[in-house]
Amino acid sequence: MDIHEYYRQAGNFHGHWCPGLAIGVRAAFEAGQALGTQMADRHNHIQCLAESSACWMDGIQFVLGATLGNGALKIDDTGKSAFNFYNPETGESLRYYLLELPRELPKSELIDYILTASLEEVFRRTPVHRPFPPRAEKSPELVCPLCGERFRSDKTRYRDGQALCPHCG
Ligand SMILES: [Zn+2]
Ligand SMILES: [Zn+2]
Repeated sequence: MDIHEYYRQAGNFHGHWCPGLAIGVRAAFEAGQALGTQMADRHNHIQCLAESSACWMDGIQFVLGATLGNGALKIDDTGKSAFNFYNPETGESLRYYLLELPRELPKSELIDYILTASLEEVFRRTPVHRPFPPRAEKSPELVCPLCGERFRSDKTRYRDGQALCPHCG
């Protein structure tokens, strides 16, 4: 499948076609090739740590099959338009930082630019910003002494020597 076809199908998933979606499709498409995954194999997950959340999340989810649900896509909000990708089998990783785009272009031309301009014109490639976070789901659960609800211990807030849930702490 070429990148235009990924973009077309990703729009069905996302609900509309937009430059943000194209950014996610392009980043995931390039990362999939650079890190050597077979993108048709949805069980061969490349992991992604996105540095902010926008329309591009759906492009990444569609192209790589790395989703919020299967835990291979996470957000570490640095407020930057940047994406860290990891191949957990080989240990390889890379980060794409989004460069300034020619936003004055009409929307369809801007989208075409994002999908087809040379990679160096769209992203700066750098070492990853941080390792992919371990699965928080494996942290043990605690019971909050105030509201009685169970919560993951990595979310504990401490107040007056009590280990409280994020709502009560
Ligand atoms: Zn969108
Ligand atoms: Zn509580």
